[in-house]
Amino acid sequence: MEIQTNTEPKPRLLLHACCGVCNSYVPELLLPNFDVTVYYENSNIYPSEEFDRRLEAAKTMAESFGIPFIQAPYKPEEWLAGTKGLENAPEKGARCSYCVAFRLAKTLDFAKQMDFEWVATTLSVSRRKNAQMINDIGERLSVNYGINFLGRDWKKNGGENISQERAKKAGIYRQNYCGCIFSYKARQKE
Ligand code: SF4
Repeated sequence: MEIQTNTEPKPRLLLHACCGVCNSYVPELLLPNFDVTVYYENSNIYPSEEFDRRLEAAKTMAESFGIPFIQAPYKPEEWLAGTKGLENAPEKGARCSYCVAFRLAKTLDFAKQMDFEWVATTLSVSRRKNAQMINDIGERLSVNYGINFLGRDWKKNGGENISQERAKKAGIYRQNYCGCIFSYKARQKE
């Protein structure tokens, strides 16, 4: 009997990843169907040393999957400029919508330049993140760029716990606050 093999190339997907923990499991779910490249676009992160720590962790996990990893330019001043008047907004509120839109727009822009067919983000793997909000923003922006957005809630089916366990096993850096200066200060007060 002749064995059928699928030689069709998989569609190219640019995966926005925010840290090593979030990048420790989501690629595994995507790889059966997509040709995945990880994109580290996180100008929200404060301070720069923290940006570097999460960068290294995300890169380590991409290497463990054998997938390409691209670091976007770090532009904290540009990100911060858009938070005026939103400094005291609660987590999951208006500042976070802006933050997600900022990073996804940059990711979609890069995907467009590099001819990716799909964009996704690891962000929804955290229980502190509202998947509906993230996916609505991704869908809306993707129309402007003419690229498909794969909206998922990665925390389903134990996704966050699996990610944390994988990250722990890999010995990578695991952060204890969301990322921006506002979440950093809020964590320090707790
Ligand atoms: S709390 Fe997190 S999602 Fe919200 S603005 Fe800060 S870094 Fe972005």
